[in-house]
Amino acid sequence: MSSLTRRRLTRRIKLLAASFILAVSVGVVWLTGLISLDFFLGEVQRRADATLAVQAAVLEKLLDKFRLMAPLMARGPDAAEIVLNLDAERGKQVAAIAAGMAGAEEVWFLDLNGDVIVSSTSNDLIATGSGKAAIRVVFRQAIQGQLGRQLLPGTQNRPASYVFASAVREHDAVAGVIAVRVGLADVEQAWALSKDPIVALDPHGSVVVTNVPAWRGRQFSELTEEANVVVSHGDGELTEVMKLTDRARGKSHLQLATRLPALDWSVVILADTTEARRQSARAMVIAILLCIIAGGAVWAMLARREEMARRHRRDRAAALRLERRVRSRTADLRKANAQLEQEVRDRLQAEADLRLAQAELVQAAKLATLGKMSAALSHEYNQPLAAIRSDAEIAEMLIARGSPDKAIGNLSRIGSMVARMAEIARTLKGFSRRSGTDIRPVSLRQAIDEALLLVMPQIKRSGVSLKTRLPKEDIVVAGGRIRLEQVIVNLMTNALDAVRDRPDPQIELRLEQEGSRVRLTVTDNGKGIDAETLPHIFDPFFTTKETGAGLGLGLSIAYKIVHDFSGTLTARNTDAGGAEFTIRLPVAGEKTIAAE
Ligand code: ADP
Repeated sequence: MSSLTRRRLTRRIKLLAASFILAVSVGVVWLTGLISLDFFLGEVQRRADATLAVQAAVLEKLLDKFRLMAPLMARGPDAAEIVLNLDAERGKQVAAIAAGMAGAEEVWFLDLNGDVIVSSTSNDLIATGSGKAAIRVVFRQAIQGQLGRQLLPGTQNRPASYVFASAVREHDAVAGVIAVRVGLADVEQAWALSKDPIVALDPHGSVVVTNVPAWRGRQFSELTEEANVVVSHGDGELTEVMKLTDRARGKSHLQLATRLPALDWSVVILADTTEARRQSARAMVIAILLCIIAGGAVWAMLARREEMARRHRRDRAAALRLERRVRSRTADLRKANAQLEQEVRDRLQAEADLRLAQAELVQAAKLATLGKMSAALSHEYNQPLAAIRSDAEIAEMLIARGSPDKAIGNLSRIGSMVARMAEIARTLKGFSRRSGTDIRPVSLRQAIDEALLLVMPQIKRSGVSLKTRLPKEDIVVAGGRIRLEQVIVNLMTNALDAVRDRPDPQIELRLEQEGSRVRLTVTDNGKGIDAETLPHIFDPFFTTKETGAGLGLGLSIAYKIVHDFSGTLTARNTDAGGAEFTIRLPVAGEKTIAAE
């Protein structure tokens, strides 16, 4: 999938997720509002129900208490006398006592015309107000033998009262009427404790008793319009009404009613729903906050998952890239390895070829040396042989002529030439002696001392000054003592030959240790070695000395001996003009010395 398509897809998924989160949040908030409002309104309703039941009972109990007071008084012994005799004084006394004891507002004795005979109070309602017209209804009911009951509506300043009336009989004939007025102010005072408005309505719907004085006497239907009230039509429908109308119209009161069947009144409470609505709003706010938090968390989780997926993709891509690189590198390495192996094989082959060539060369060189030596040897031997032959012929001739004494000289020359040939043979024997088997630790000091001892007579005879510079401590090398002495003697003898004609002949023998090697130098102040001679001095039979003075084998034998001891022998001219021969040998190891 290309990154562009993936990005577009991710954006679409994000949009979808955001819409989903928003939709869920809206749903949750809406549901929270609905449920919480139901719950809190239910609470309000329960509270209001309880209040209503209590307050309605207060009103009912009060009226119930006074309902029987008028009939009881009418049956009393004094009642008939008072109304028949129009005994105002006694009537006043009885009425005042009854009113005072029962807590009634007023007690009246009325005659058959409905006029007041006497009242319990001096400024009674009938006397001050509209008189008997006000209680006409209750009076009539009483005259007719019923328990009279009538409401005396209140005003804004005065609470309503309720009047009960009963006929006073004398020998089954109605003699007068007793009426008891009950003030409803106490009920209103009790209702005033409730913070919600409570009203008692008469069958016509006008307010009779209320804890809102301004409402007294008014039509409840008008009031509900003003008060913005939702009317409930019973418990079952209440919730429905609340749900549909309350929220829609923003009503702030809930109305609950109960009937007082005895009076045909209904008591209504208007419960304030503002707090319930506020609490529901609070719950919605909390729900919104929770939704924001949850949405944020979900969003963060999604973002994190996306980031992780992106990182995973990145890592995978990096791993793939690395793998590819490793693969290509491995291939390169394998190629390089193969090349190296080929190269090693080539080198090994070349080395083998070289060894072969070297061996062939060595062989060729050996053969060449052999040829050279044979030529030199035949020359060396032919010369004396020819001389011997001619001397022998001469001696033979002289003896044949009878003068053998003359032949003595020839014969003695023959003898000396044979001796020379024998010497050559002896030297060659030493040259060809097998080496390597008798290599052992040799004290250089000892070898030098013995060599010097051998050449000392010659040195003394020729008046050469010999300087020796030897280290205090002895140095041990691996080799053969006699052969080493032979080399040193040879170098010393050559040096003696070289300085023979010098005015102040000097020879120096120096021994130094240079790390793991030892250097033995023989320096003279002779005429040095010619440039043409220098390359050949180690060749066998090469000599610049007169015939008979040197065999030309000394240096070549010395060279071979030193090489047999894993050392080197070199020659050079010093700055002063003399020759300097240097032997370098490895110092023998601890083991070798211990073996000695
Ligand atoms: P020989 O002494 O019998 O000639 P060597 O092999 O000992 O044989 O020496 C070969 C030649 O090297 C000598 O003939 C000489 O020319 C040269 N040579 C050797 N030692 C010295 C030296 N100390 N000074 C000058 N020339 C030397």
